Amino acid sequence: MADIPANDDQEEIAIPPQLISPAALFTAGLMLVAYFSGQTFNKSAVITLGFTAAIVSFAFSHYVPAFKFGRAHAFYLYTYHWLLSFALIFILPTLSYFLYLWVMFMYLAEFLYQAKGMVLSATALLTTMLVGSLYQENGLSKATLIHIAMEFAIIISVNLVMTRLAFGNRKKRAEMQEKIVHAEFEHGRLVALINSMSDGVIATDQNGKIINYNAAALDLLDTNATLTEQQLTDHLQVYDDKDEPVSIMDVAHTTNFLQRRTDLSMSFGEHDKVALDISISRIARSTLLAKQQGYMFLLRDITLQKSLDEERDLFISEVSHELRTPLTIAEGEMSMAVMLTEKPQVEIAQVKESVEKAHDQVVFLEDIVNDLSALSRAQRDDKSMEIETFSVKDVLTELNETYGPQAQKKGLFLNVTIAPSIPELTTSRLYFKEILQNFITNAIKYTDKGGVTVAGQAVDKEHVIISVTDTGAGIAKSEQAKVYQKFWRSEDPYTRSTGGTGLGLFITAKLAQRLGGELHLESKLKEGSTFSLVLPSKAVKDVDKSNVAKNEVAHLFD
Ligand code: ADP
Repeated sequence: MADIPANDDQEEIAIPPQLISPAALFTAGLMLVAYFSGQTFNKSAVITLGFTAAIVSFAFSHYVPAFKFGRAHAFYLYTYHWLLSFALIFILPTLSYFLYLWVMFMYLAEFLYQAKGMVLSATALLTTMLVGSLYQENGLSKATLIHIAMEFAIIISVNLVMTRLAFGNRKKRAEMQEKIVHAEFEHGRLVALINSMSDGVIATDQNGKIINYNAAALDLLDTNATLTEQQLTDHLQVYDDKDEPVSIMDVAHTTNFLQRRTDLSMSFGEHDKVALDISISRIARSTLLAKQQGYMFLLRDITLQKSLDEERDLFISEVSHELRTPLTIAEGEMSMAVMLTEKPQVEIAQVKESVEKAHDQVVFLEDIVNDLSALSRAQRDDKSMEIETFSVKDVLTELNETYGPQAQKKGLFLNVTIAPSIPELTTSRLYFKEILQNFITNAIKYTDKGGVTVAGQAVDKEHVIISVTDTGAGIAKSEQAKVYQKFWRSEDPYTRSTGGTGLGLFITAKLAQRLGGELHLESKLKEGSTFSLVLPSKAVKDVDKSNVAKNEVAHLFD
């Protein structure tokens, strides 16, 4: 008998040998009946009973794990063909109803190996019939050959009808198989896509029982538990903007087709709140077999975006408030000037005073606008931040030359001392200078006697410290934490008598952060202040890690 090739693709859908073995046991049973009713060709009890015992023990062998074979069904099918062939040649009468036992094995061969299996099985059958007849009848008469042809044709027909009934048209079967492979491929692609999304995806049934979810959903819900079959409301408790609890399924039930909510948040503990952007879509699908209904939830953490939006809104309102005061004053003074010029006797001195006051406010507005543009520069994504290597001494000398005369004009001294050990800096020269400039101008501005000392030295191998000390107004302890807030200015009358936007130190802090530096303040009211900058001598360009998209992929839909 020809070898039956094992087909790898069929391994997965193959029927187990358990289905073949009962057929073999049945055959063995029939052989015993035939023997004891005197119908066997071979009358030897040893051969017949021994052979039957061999079939029985082989059929039982697959129930013993140690005897299981790798390509089990191929091996069993092959062996049973051999056994039946042997029985039909040597024990049972070849051309008898025992031939119909072959139908079972041919049917299984067709099931496992399609046409190839059937052809091989049919060839083995024909060979068996010819050899068996030759052996049992000592030759092949014409009548025997016709008998063989008839039996063979009937068995093949029965088998074809059986396989068609069981498996359908071969072409349709192939098409169906192709469709399944295609659907599996599409499913796999969809699963990979959903799993690689950075948004959380959760699919539930109509009652909120979780059916599917992706890795990002687990991340967002801060759990690594298996969510399948669990209630979504047990894992996702949301609150509205008044902090009132809201049932996410109640929200879902109001969805007609698609609904988007950005006003809901969930909380972990008392302070940890996560603002969510939730898109809910209704899934309704009817197939012949079932009517499926449920919801698809798309969840995104928008806490950062919301806080940035809030900060921006607050900033815009603060800026417009700060701009309104000088604008109102300037506008008032200009109107006054116009009114004065309309009088029959124009008081030039009064007009001049009003115009000067308006001018001061315009200059102040210009300061604010300059500060705002410096601020936007400091906050911009700093791929363009130019890093260069320079000597601290050069920068401090430049600053001394620029602000020395200004200090002198106020009757103040400006001293610069630089420790010789101070290393060269590799950082943004522009930002470094801008920070010190802000310290020095403030120190001169808020000091009316004494002066300002700028000192630079190395802290360790990688850091330098530059401090600007003045003998001026000083800042009360209670106010020291506020100096870096935007638009903050001390209530102190001396400070208020000077012009200022309250943006300088805010910008300074942003610039220092860009360079990886730290700001320190020591101050005593009416005695003076020391603002210092501790800076790494080599700046590393910093990447804003909060923008790096999450890319956690897990295959939870498998
Ligand atoms: P501005 O100087 O334009 O008001 P800043 O942001 O530079 O804004 O400073 C904020 C506030 O901090 C100032 O209004 C002042 O009250 C206080 N301040 C800053 N530097 C000094 C200093 N060297 N001595 C005393 N007060 C200072």
